[in-house]
Amino acid sequence: MHDYHVHTTYSDGDLLPRMVGAAEEAGLDGVGFADHCNVFGTEGARAYRDAFGFNLDLTYERRRRAIERSRNRTDLRIYDAVEMDYHPDYEDEIEAFLSDAGFQYAIGSVHAVDGANVHDREHFGRLSTAEREGAVETYVDRVCALVDSELFDVAAHVDLVERNPALRGLLTADQYRRIADALKKSRTVPEINAGRVLDDYGEFHPSDPFVQTLLDAGVEFTIGSDAHEPGALIDSVDRLADTVAERDLPVIELDV
Ligand SMILES: [Zn+2]
Ligand SMILES: [Zn+2]
Repeated sequence: MHDYHVHTTYSDGDLLPRMVGAAEEAGLDGVGFADHCNVFGTEGARAYRDAFGFNLDLTYERRRRAIERSRNRTDLRIYDAVEMDYHPDYEDEIEAFLSDAGFQYAIGSVHAVDGANVHDREHFGRLSTAEREGAVETYVDRVCALVDSELFDVAAHVDLVERNPALRGLLTADQYRRIADALKKSRTVPEINAGRVLDDYGEFHPSDPFVQTLLDAGVEFTIGSDAHEPGALIDSVDRLADTVAERDLPVIELDV
């Protein structure tokens, strides 16, 4: 199995050698390091990036050298990748950066809606039901635009709003279908993402009914533990292998 979505200290994860060790222990055939990266250049994005140390746009060459050294010490296939923040207003910046950097593949993510992080329970908790539904609709618009942009190999956690109790359960069957239709027409593949499966949410992204809609549309998946530390990687890979086998999910390897 290939886990294409793992974080290191080049964003908000653990040390790269420790994550390589965990990938070996988990029995993976391949692991892809996809650290957070943002090239929007807005004041808000810059403040967020500075606060959390998401500087892969500045450090990817250093990480690449570390990945090359790691490859010499293991049979595991190790991929040099990125998890890019996506917004339709910054497609040119994203495209230019990706083309310069030359990662083996790129994961695209919508992490914010209307200037607020999708995880922000306080912000979305203050909104009325109509406003929350509006935020979810905007989220779906952004995910569809991400897929339509053809900038990415993988679309990350396509129902990220489910992670936030203030937004959970608001995605509709029509919205599942909109995202499924966009994916069906695109080279971009969604992932089965285990980012919160060991956490309070306890489910994979996408949720079971959403996965069913994607399966009905003939969409395939990649695997992403979205792990930030070694123990989570090992446990998530276990859970991912189980769910793929139980549901007989069509999982692909990226052509990299
Ligand atoms: Zn993410
Ligand atoms: Zn991630």
